[in-house]
Amino acid sequence: MKVYGRITVFPIMPARINRLYELAYNVWWSWHPEARALYSSLDPALWEQVSHNPVHFLSQLQPQTLERAAQDSEYLERYDSVIRDFDHYIHPQPSETWFSTTYPELTNKTIAYFSAEFGLHESLPIYSGGLGILSGDHCKEASDLGLPFVGVGFLYPQGYFTQQVNRSGIQEASYDKLHFSEVPAVPAIGPDGNEVVISVELPGRRIYAKVWKLMVGRVPLYLMDTDIQPNAPADRELSARLYGGDNEMRISQEIVLGIGGVRALRALGINPSAWHLNEGHAAFLSLERCRELVAAGLSFNEAREVIKTNSLFTTHTPVPAGNDAFSFDLIDKYFNTYWGQLGLSREQFLDIAREDKSWGPSFGMTVLALKLTGHHNGVSALHGDVSRKMWQFLWPGLDKSEVPIGSITNGIHTFSWIAPELNELYGRFLDPDWGKYVDDQAFWDSHIQNIPDRELWKAHHQRKLALAEYTTRRLQQQHLRLGEGDRQLAEFEGMLNPNALILGFARRFATYKRATLIFRNLDRLRRILNDPERPVQIVFAGKAHPADEPGKALIEYIYKMSRSEEFKGKIIFLENYDIDMARYLVSGTDVWLNNPIRPYEASGTSGQKAALNGQPNCSILDGWWAEGYNGKNGWAIGEERDYHDQEAQAEDDSNSLYQILENEIIPTFFEQDSNGVPHQWMSYMKEAIRTCAPQFSMRRMVKDYTNTYYVPEIRHNIQIEENHYEQERQLADWKERVSRAWSSLELYVDGRREGQLSLGESLDVHAWVRVNELDPNDLRVELVYGETQEEVAIPTHALPMQYVKSENDGSYRYDIQLKPDESGSIAYNIRVIPSHPSLTDKYEMGLIRWA
Ligand SMILES: *Cc1c(COP(=O)(O)O)cnc(C)c1O
Repeated sequence: MKVYGRITVFPIMPARINRLYELAYNVWWSWHPEARALYSSLDPALWEQVSHNPVHFLSQLQPQTLERAAQDSEYLERYDSVIRDFDHYIHPQPSETWFSTTYPELTNKTIAYFSAEFGLHESLPIYSGGLGILSGDHCKEASDLGLPFVGVGFLYPQGYFTQQVNRSGIQEASYDKLHFSEVPAVPAIGPDGNEVVISVELPGRRIYAKVWKLMVGRVPLYLMDTDIQPNAPADRELSARLYGGDNEMRISQEIVLGIGGVRALRALGINPSAWHLNEGHAAFLSLERCRELVAAGLSFNEAREVIKTNSLFTTHTPVPAGNDAFSFDLIDKYFNTYWGQLGLSREQFLDIAREDKSWGPSFGMTVLALKLTGHHNGVSALHGDVSRKMWQFLWPGLDKSEVPIGSITNGIHTFSWIAPELNELYGRFLDPDWGKYVDDQAFWDSHIQNIPDRELWKAHHQRKLALAEYTTRRLQQQHLRLGEGDRQLAEFEGMLNPNALILGFARRFATYKRATLIFRNLDRLRRILNDPERPVQIVFAGKAHPADEPGKALIEYIYKMSRSEEFKGKIIFLENYDIDMARYLVSGTDVWLNNPIRPYEASGTSGQKAALNGQPNCSILDGWWAEGYNGKNGWAIGEERDYHDQEAQAEDDSNSLYQILENEIIPTFFEQDSNGVPHQWMSYMKEAIRTCAPQFSMRRMVKDYTNTYYVPEIRHNIQIEENHYEQERQLADWKERVSRAWSSLELYVDGRREGQLSLGESLDVHAWVRVNELDPNDLRVELVYGETQEEVAIPTHALPMQYVKSENDGSYRYDIQLKPDESGSIAYNIRVIPSHPSLTDKYEMGLIRWA
């Protein structure tokens, strides 16, 4: 039959346990195993069938099962305890959350977080990879810390694809319909009591999106869906899939996300004080905020000053495909009625986000985001560096190191990723309440040795057994589907050997991640994998974007290897990598392998999950590992340097990887005492836990975001609202004046150009600036110096010069004494930048004049 409507009918719930429904509608259960157990223990087989989704589970459950549970005292005890914890969590005392004790005066403010994907749980496929997992973890931690936080995104009816690998190793993508009646989300209700539906203009039409609300602990996520009645069939498909379709689909989705997302918050009566753009997909939100202010009477330039002060943009990748850019044709088509509403001409509008690509000028979403937010950051120290270099062209004249892009290194939500056996172990040997100390380095430092080697090894071995069983189950499912016979299926029994050294490699199959690097020298790999005394196995998993042919070819290669006579049972590929599989892998393999082309891995987080569970990483010094590696908590592949030839880089990196495996990892792992405990190995495991669990936790990360960006933004916003934008209006006027005057600026310097100085002596430098219309206090004149390296100087110091007087010819004189505090060869120069107390960043205008 053709489906007209679909309704989920729940069984009658016995009154004694009727809050099982309510609990199902808050994904708090996704990081509380005892809450999940309330469902799974009722019918473990059904639990597996419904992908561990309690809402779906309850709709399928036999009423008798619930009746029995309502009579079972052991069950009721667990139920009462979970409900007590849940109630306590949802309604904490003000003194009980980090945010309300640290910033008590700001608890009534709101931080809005926009992201195209949210990875919360395997049953909700609205994520594709690391970006989504990070957003999901961010929301969970924001909830734990008590941040006044809301998320905005999409509830994609088909989500991201399910991966099936066929007999030839070809990845096939299928999209399963996500039935919203089985999702733990409910229609969002506005202040007027009605369901919230918003609309945006697309070429020649208006399209509507319904807003759903999904609770992540205390944090609401508002997720939009365009598959609703007034929309034409094509538009109903618009939000069907994550990262599906062509550029028109992409720009339409981003219009709904950014512009529609702002409208959704307004319709809900939410007025955020800080806005976080998680990746450039959401950058149109800044245009919409400007449009609102222009409609309220501000000029575009004034509006831009206002919205910049309280918005943060996080860039997540230096890979070009991850930075959307649209052709001007497309922008004409989609925004020709919009720029007028901003009071801008077409040229002015295009100029905001202009980026010159090899294929011509384009409208870059990363550029747009950088230009319309006051704060920007990358996701690891190295990625901050790479981003400053990559986007330096937007701040011409500034040295790379001064480009105003900061960094906060990614982390993981501890309780979403800790395996139950390790959680129990930490409770027993670290502290029953160890979760309170997640980001407290001193706690880990002083407690880690309390864990006996054999206990850690035992817990880890249980995870290996769990992974071995999971692997058999998954391989059998896959090959049953492919029509294999019983004999072949039996081959998968015990395929993963829990006593072997198991290497794990699971990630998106983007080519820069070089999944096949370890196959570069097959002879050497063969020797590594074929020592009967020291068995080694490698488990691979990961999806390639459906349009990424080279990525898919890598999967095909690995799959074929895993089926070859030679590597069968040594190389294993598991299809359909998702959060559930990730939990098995990051806790059940022995070494977490990562070998991207440096420096393309902005951060990576799967290795952090592995370390939390006691797995040392063996990784290129890229992303987070460049900070995490300390020589004792894992291994560093290759060298910390840049190559211009990727072949040479691959050759060096693969040799380094083989060498580490042969000389360090394998011998250490197999040096076991008479009880089979490898003590030297245990020191790697403990060191991985000690160093990574606190430092790369989501708790550390969300606190960093809050202290560094959210709170200063909220405070700034309070001022702005109090002075009714006056300060920003003045700033906009001032910027216009400075921009006009800048070309007339002349700079003369009088100082030694060459010579020697003894340490302790100083050098007098004078500068004169002549400029129309500007006062000395509109300018900051700096002496910049640093060590010379070959022909360049790295500016490490920027000292403000003292304004002395106005000369007769109208120029301003500035003086300074340069007194270097170290010996060596230094170079200096003088420069002028505009200066105003309201600037968010002293370099934000991108105007600079060097002598
Ligand atoms: C953690 C995670 C990722 C991101 O990890 P990377 O190290 O960036 O690859 C991707 N997919 C899933 C399912 C994950 O759990």
